[in-house]
Amino acid sequence: MAEVVLEARDIVKHYPIKTGVLRRTTGWVKAVDGVSFDLHKGETLGIVGESGCGKSTLGRMLMRLEEPTSGSLQFDGVDMYAQSTSDMRRLRRDIQIVFQDPYTSLNPRKTVGDIVGEPFDIHPDVVPKQGRRQRVQELLDLVGLNPEHINRYPHQFSGGQRQRIGIARGIALNPKVLICDEPVSALDVSVQAQVVNLMEKLQDELGLAYVFIAHDLSVVRHISDRVGVMYLGKLAELGEEDEVYTRPTHPYTQALLSAVPVPDPVLRGKREQIVLEGDVPSPANPPTGCRFHTRCWKAQDRCTTEEPGLTMRGDGVAEHLSACHFAEARAVVETTDMSDHSG
Ligand code: SF4
Repeated sequence: MAEVVLEARDIVKHYPIKTGVLRRTTGWVKAVDGVSFDLHKGETLGIVGESGCGKSTLGRMLMRLEEPTSGSLQFDGVDMYAQSTSDMRRLRRDIQIVFQDPYTSLNPRKTVGDIVGEPFDIHPDVVPKQGRRQRVQELLDLVGLNPEHINRYPHQFSGGQRQRIGIARGIALNPKVLICDEPVSALDVSVQAQVVNLMEKLQDELGLAYVFIAHDLSVVRHISDRVGVMYLGKLAELGEEDEVYTRPTHPYTQALLSAVPVPDPVLRGKREQIVLEGDVPSPANPPTGCRFHTRCWKAQDRCTTEEPGLTMRGDGVAEHLSACHFAEARAVVETTDMSDHSG
């Protein structure tokens, strides 16, 4: 396997709950509560989970846009959480982010040239001032936009084109890692496929590693080499994309996959849907033991008191990490891949 570029160990982010006139801390929202993984050079690690599971907070922590409560994050052997602000600025050249909403993440008063060239204001040594316009036009070309449109404004572009502008800005500094926080969820399905295909092309050409965060299981499957499933601030399951999607071992992943729409009526008939009871508990007051036990149909007494670690639970059929005392592979009826939408 390729070398590790990003190594997250036991990353935690707790936000204080402040109440009363004195704004005393009366509790903690455990948004991210002990997440560990490796990201390898040139790979895509998908992070999937329901809204509120902590995946976007995790994404921001990977760039240190959120300060950690505890944990360590090594980039190329350097602990990012131990760096000064100026050292962090230098490190961020190598780790960039693409945000979810192309409608709000681009400043409407700036031209595309200014937006894509923004990273050069912070890192002026990367491209000399006189070469910036040409570099921005190269970047626009790279993401499939007309370089002649450098003086246009965001409102003159479609949603998909705006996300291409966001991606051009994200790759401007030749980063090694791109954090993609729900980069296509605001787009139509057909446009999603085009943007994801562009990201795959850029990965091949530039050797980028992606952390691709999304709630849509088909999108994550299409682009990811490995997938982590998050529930209430923790990873429930982590493994190769094919393993997790066809032989999931955690009851939560099995339920999520059983709810993905299956267009083929024959396949649909063969599938047994697992309906999860109840709502996701509050991250301010997560259940004891296994966090999933309040909704899990396989829960037993042990699950209410003993928290399962994320460990290898190979049973000869599936061999990947799962945080369940009773993990066992369950075959899943194949669902639609998003490439089916790409026309
Ligand atoms: Fe369900 Fe228990 Fe496994 Fe948690 S540990 S997922 S409650 S069976």
